[in-house]
Amino acid sequence: MKFVSYIYDGNEGYGVFNEDNISVFPMNVLLGKLNRKVLENLLEFIRTYSDDIILELGNVLNGSVDNTISIDDIKITAPIPYPRRNVFCLGKNYADHAMEVKSLPGGKAAVPDYPIYFTKVTDPAIGHMDKVIIPKDYTEKIDYEVELAIIIGKDGKDISPDDAEDYIFGYTIGNDISARDIQTKHVQWFKGKSLDTFTPMGPYIVDKSEISFPIELDINCKINGEIRQNSNTKNLIFDIPTIISDLSKGLTLRAGDIILTGTPSGVGIGFTPHKYLKSGDVVECYVEKIGSLVNYVK
Ligand code: MG
Repeated sequence: MKFVSYIYDGNEGYGVFNEDNISVFPMNVLLGKLNRKVLENLLEFIRTYSDDIILELGNVLNGSVDNTISIDDIKITAPIPYPRRNVFCLGKNYADHAMEVKSLPGGKAAVPDYPIYFTKVTDPAIGHMDKVIIPKDYTEKIDYEVELAIIIGKDGKDISPDDAEDYIFGYTIGNDISARDIQTKHVQWFKGKSLDTFTPMGPYIVDKSEISFPIELDINCKINGEIRQNSNTKNLIFDIPTIISDLSKGLTLRAGDIILTGTPSGVGIGFTPHKYLKSGDVVECYVEKIGSLVNYVK
C-alpha cells in the first residue's frame, strides 16, 4: 500500500494510492468505513494505528470505494512534512561512498567501525516535484544524496536485530541535500544538511508488507537524466536490522521517526572536478519497489 500526503482543494489530506496509480482513496473515507477515528495527518495515523490497520484497510479497498480523487487534482507533499523530531541519518554507510568523501570532516577513518549518526532539521521536508532552493549568497557547493528512508511504526528501545522489522511501518525515498562548503567550514554535518528545502522526501510511503527482508533494492540518482549514483541497498555497511538495533540502544525510537540509511558513491564531491547542483537541474532519486522522487533546483 502506498500512503501519500497531499493538498486537495486547499486542505491537507492523506490517503492510499489506488492500484491504477492515477487516483487516491482519501483516508477519512477509508477510516469512516472502518468506524475508526479520523486523524489529522499521516504522522498521527502511523503513531496511532501502526501496522495493525493494514489488513483492515486492504479489506476495505477490496470492496467498493468510489470516493477517489484524481492525482491531477492533488499536490503531493512529503509523506511526513513535519516529523516529530529531527530526521536520523547514517553517514558513510556504503563503502564506496565512504572512500569518495574522505576530504570531508571526520573523513580519516574511511569505512567506520560503528554507525555514524547525525540528524537533519526538516521544517518542513519538501515533497515530490518541489524545488530545492540554493541560498546562493551563502553556499555554492550543493550536493545530492539518494537514500532509502525507514519510517518507524511503533515505539521501541533496545530492539534486537531479529525484531527490527516489527518496528518498521514502511519505506520512502529521501534526498539528503548537503552544502559541502558549510559542512567543511563548521567541521560538522548538521547545519550544511539542515538548510530550508534540503530534505526532499517521498513521493509516498510503501508499507513494509510490500518489501520483504532482507531489503535488497536497486537505488540510483540521476541529474538531468545522467546516472550519477547507482547501487543496491544490500551494499549498506550497517544493514537495517543493525541500524534499528544499534540506534535504539538506550534511545527510544518513536512511531513516525524517520531514518535515512546513507547514500552510495557518485555524489558531486566524489567527481574530479566536482559536479555540484546548479539552478535548473532536475534531480531524480529512484529506489526499486518504491518509485522516483523528482525535484528541481532553483
Ligand atoms: Mg546522507
